[in-house]
Amino acid sequence: MTSFNDFGLAEPILRALAQENYTTPTPIQAQTIPLACQARDVIGIAQTGTGKTAAFALPILNHILGKRLRPAQRSCRILVLSPTRELSGQIADSFRTYGRHIRPLEVALAIGGVPINRQARAVARGVEVLVATPGRLLDLVNQRAVSLNQIEVLVLDEADRMLDMGFIHDIKRIVAMLPKERQTLFFSATMPQEITRLADQMLRDPAKVSVTPQATTVERIAQRVILTDKAAKPSLLVEMLKTEQTDRVLVFTRTKHGADKVVRSLEKTGFAAEAIHGNKSQNQRERVLADFRTGKLRILIATDIAARGIDVDGVSHVINYDLPNVPESYVHRIGRTARAGAEGIAVSFCDPTERTFLRDIERLTKRPLVVVDGRVWLKDLAPPAPAAVNHGTAKRPAPAGNGQRRDGGRNQPRTDR
Ligand code: AMP
Repeated sequence: MTSFNDFGLAEPILRALAQENYTTPTPIQAQTIPLACQARDVIGIAQTGTGKTAAFALPILNHILGKRLRPAQRSCRILVLSPTRELSGQIADSFRTYGRHIRPLEVALAIGGVPINRQARAVARGVEVLVATPGRLLDLVNQRAVSLNQIEVLVLDEADRMLDMGFIHDIKRIVAMLPKERQTLFFSATMPQEITRLADQMLRDPAKVSVTPQATTVERIAQRVILTDKAAKPSLLVEMLKTEQTDRVLVFTRTKHGADKVVRSLEKTGFAAEAIHGNKSQNQRERVLADFRTGKLRILIATDIAARGIDVDGVSHVINYDLPNVPESYVHRIGRTARAGAEGIAVSFCDPTERTFLRDIERLTKRPLVVVDGRVWLKDLAPPAPAAVNHGTAKRPAPAGNGQRRDGGRNQPRTDR
């Protein structure tokens, strides 16, 4: 088995990893770090939760240590592009954590939703690492607050999500400003054609590494679908929160409005919950996330985009209050539980209008979901079902580990879909 000591990483980095109690590299780290340390371009197919941040941050910090030079004014040596403010903040924090014994190490953020002048000041003297969302970075470049002609390493994180969010033109504009002589590390959870084309334009002779988080993440999560009417969803959620033993619950809605509505209906029944979505200020989002992380807030309601990159360990339950219309989002959502090797529970409420979304999800994950008609007490259900590759023909797993169902067998898994 590989250990972090096998990669030839410098001692200050190893010391920080030991303090973080990282003993074994994750598969994406084991594959990416040696290649990136040889200055190769890398395409990594991996999603959040696989340890991909360290997979690029550690070789980059090693590169910085191997070539100590003062960054020029208004420039940066390393550029990390990420789709959301939250993810950018988490990436910057990771660089600071893994680089805590590297001095000086200036890590700056260029993200929307906060005053631009402060960010311009932060890069004025030059920084080693700049983590940015594409729009704000272009604003800074246009103001001549930062120039990108000294970039040694570019990281593009969550490329597929960047595409979904309409950043592709911004990215192309940014890449055109970078030196041709550079290292590029490119990460994406999925590789649709347009992403492959983008990678072909940006990378030179890239090594391709991939982990299959879809399967591995999904397998560790007990997934259940409850068929319900739309109107019954509020009471179903309350009932679940009352009966289930939950630590941290992340509830997904399709819309911002829907998220606020769930907060209000929970508050009426005495459950404290908060929402995180694009209409909230950066400060609000950070406060809510911090409270969720520390456990002060037990129930967080989120939309897909706002939740992207939320990195909170110990989410016991993901509840899909609405099913996502994009099946990949289902995998991203449920991946918020079962992080760092823990097991988790994902419950989806499915009303009649969402049945086609359910079918799309099963097609993507290549496993049938256990569907229960009406109320169900999850702890009576069997552990995660083994992966079934034979979509459509595989038998659904039997319910009830002990054979005793509290619902008297009313809620048998359906096989008629
Ligand atoms: P990421 O996919 O980069 O968002 O990382 C997911 C989570 O795994 C984060 O909470 C990391 O701190 C944690 N993590 C990353 N690499 C390791 C490792 N080798 N050992 C233990 N935890 C890790």
